[in-house]
Amino acid sequence: MDIANYDSRFLILPIKKIIDENSTTKTFVFEHSLGGNPGQFLMMWIPGVDEKPMSIAYDDGKEFWITVCNVGETSNALHGLKEGDKVGVRGPLGTSYEFGKGDHLALVAGGYGAAPMYFVAKQAVEKGIKIEFLVGARNEDLLLYIDKIKDLEGVTLHISTDDGSAGHKGYVTEVLKEVLAEGNVNKVFTCGPEVMMKVVGQVADYAKVESWLSMEKYMKCGIGVCGQCAIDDTGDLVCTKGPVMSWKYLQNLPEMGKYHRDAQGKKHNF
Ligand SMILES: Cc1cc2nc3c(=O)[nH]c(=O)nc-3n(C[C@H](O)[C@H](O)[C@H](O)COP(=O)(O)OP(=O)(O)OC[C@H]3O[C@@H](n4cnc5c(N)ncnc54)[C@H](O)[C@@H]3O)c2cc1C
Repeated sequence: MDIANYDSRFLILPIKKIIDENSTTKTFVFEHSLGGNPGQFLMMWIPGVDEKPMSIAYDDGKEFWITVCNVGETSNALHGLKEGDKVGVRGPLGTSYEFGKGDHLALVAGGYGAAPMYFVAKQAVEKGIKIEFLVGARNEDLLLYIDKIKDLEGVTLHISTDDGSAGHKGYVTEVLKEVLAEGNVNKVFTCGPEVMMKVVGQVADYAKVESWLSMEKYMKCGIGVCGQCAIDDTGDLVCTKGPVMSWKYLQNLPEMGKYHRDAQGKKHNF
């Protein structure tokens, strides 16, 4: 994102609809378009609680969605809101996944990463792009967006669960190896836990296919001012240089798949 083009408008929007996705995750629908592209994020402010980055799960020019997993203070407060309650929104922010006619994409999603990957798929199928959509979760209950993905024409869905309760028993990256061995895919996009994305980058690299990852680092401002999401050792900021970044760039970073920093900048190993 170029700070010179940053749209600083801060919107206060009512939640139009809330959809229960599974036991820990909800989708929030807003009747407004941010003009966002797949991979970009917004800053979501819950009055009296905090402001946090959230991936834009969908934006069709009329409404946008975010899909949020309940893991801590802010996400829990959001899960406690009702339809009609208002939140603050800034965005769209950051970089997006780039694709075009002639591509054959593999989209690899873990956890709520299925939401931004769905946004890629929705736009890509409209351009006639072929898609292998790989969704992984610990068990069947935690799989996200499966029915929505099945509704997309031109998309082949590959499910995997750690416990084998649905699809392939094992990691989504094992399925990726098989998909890439067929030799049709020319780009891999992934969104999910960093440790999973690191293996995706390695598997794609081995198959000589370029990949792009959506990096999740602790962010405060989302616009390159606070420096909270600076990457070791380059100093680049994930909120402006990312969150979508190439494996080519990420593969040699000392922190990749190893640790992240909290609000105080303290390191925590994954
Ligand atoms: C670009 C971007 C896009 C995101 N998109 C989504 C999304 O679509 N849906 C969604 O549910 N969340 C998303 N997140 C994560 C979200 O911003 C919050 O970090 C998350 O909701 C936890 O906030 P909390 O206040 O509820 O929990 P906290 O109270 O802040 O933390 C709960 C636990 O999660 C850990 N944690 C918090 N933030 C991070 C982090 N960035 N990396 C690793 N561990 C962390 C904390 O250490 C703690 O253990 C995204 C983050 C980024 C940077």
